[in-house]
Amino acid sequence: MKQSDKAHKAGFATRAIHSGYDASTEKGSLTPPIYMTSTFAFDSVEQGAERFAGEAEGPIYSRLGNPTQDILETRLADLEEGEAALATASGMGAISATFWTLLSAGDHIVADKTLYGCTFALLEHGLTKFGVTVSYVDCCDVKAVEAALTAQTRLVYFESPVNPTLRVMDIAAISERVHAYNADIKVIVDNTYCTPALQRPLTLGADLVVHSATKYLGGHGDLIAGAVIGDAETLQRIRLEGIKDMTGAVISPMTAFLIQRGLKTLEIRMQRHSESALKIAQWLAEQPEIEHVYYPGLEESPFYELAKKQMALSGGMIAFELKGGLEMGKRFMSNLEMIKRAVSLGDAETLCQHPASMTHSTYTPEERIAHGISEGLVRLSIGLESVSDIQDDVRQALTAAR
Ligand SMILES: *Cc1c(COP(=O)(O)O)cnc(C)c1O
Repeated sequence: MKQSDKAHKAGFATRAIHSGYDASTEKGSLTPPIYMTSTFAFDSVEQGAERFAGEAEGPIYSRLGNPTQDILETRLADLEEGEAALATASGMGAISATFWTLLSAGDHIVADKTLYGCTFALLEHGLTKFGVTVSYVDCCDVKAVEAALTAQTRLVYFESPVNPTLRVMDIAAISERVHAYNADIKVIVDNTYCTPALQRPLTLGADLVVHSATKYLGGHGDLIAGAVIGDAETLQRIRLEGIKDMTGAVISPMTAFLIQRGLKTLEIRMQRHSESALKIAQWLAEQPEIEHVYYPGLEESPFYELAKKQMALSGGMIAFELKGGLEMGKRFMSNLEMIKRAVSLGDAETLCQHPASMTHSTYTPEERIAHGISEGLVRLSIGLESVSDIQDDVRQALTAAR
């Protein structure tokens, strides 16, 4: 029996490996070929005209789509349980193309008070130049989100868990209240930290999901890419307006191929990242040099119950505060040996970064305080190495920093 004949839906790991690809259409090639081409020859003038008019299926030019990209998009839509997906040149390409498509001068956005640094810069310094206004609220407080909505609000935007402090938002409750206020407002969730292996915002009522595929989806620290997933009509608009015309943030076929390769191991990687991070977060909380550990999988976390409800596992990201603040944080980071001092996250390698001077340096010091990012906060992206080796490196760096 063929997979497609089965009445039940295949499991997540199976779809992450097979969805969107039929080897019989590619000479039996087990791995999808990479279509390294900028343009596509038409059989006839008529065929070209039909494709341009949207009356016939088929590729035209790789800024509008490419067969290697198509497989990735089908797979991402399947995994996030959306109708359609769009793969882009970067996470910021996905986010900016979505905003440019859906917003006009005079529109209003409600966003969480803590956002990925460049998303914050795009909202605060980019879109405001074009007459879009933004209200920042604590999206953990659903009533505060509701109170910020106006007749001009078009989008509600947040990450969950949020980078870098790992606050968790109730996606179902926010979506329900926002849509009760105005069903046309789009709730957009940046699902980079979880990936669909751990959390599927569209099934909880959100309208669109955005990703930095640079992180866990690619998973190997060797590419920059992004994605948007949601309903087919909106995705077609973002493809034709936000990507084709307004940003040109097109993914390369080679990058689309590498993400497909990453997706094959997404589920087992997310399990291992999460299991290791939980062990390390529990262990960190017992270390005398540490003031506070932020990790939604810790029972003492205020987000423990909510995370358990909407996430399959608690993910691979940990943030912590060292006793002695900035100075101690700098000494700790300088003494790391195996763990790399680097921004980005979701790689096989454990990475450590300092949000105040790195990813969130686009915020002013006052903004950072208001957004809960202290000077001594250190962020760890737990990799796939042996847990004992990650612990040993953290331990020796803590000892050396004292
Ligand atoms: C990295 C990141 C982005 C931006 O993605 P790029 O691929 O670097 O453009 C957006 N949101 C989150 C949560 C991220 O971690």
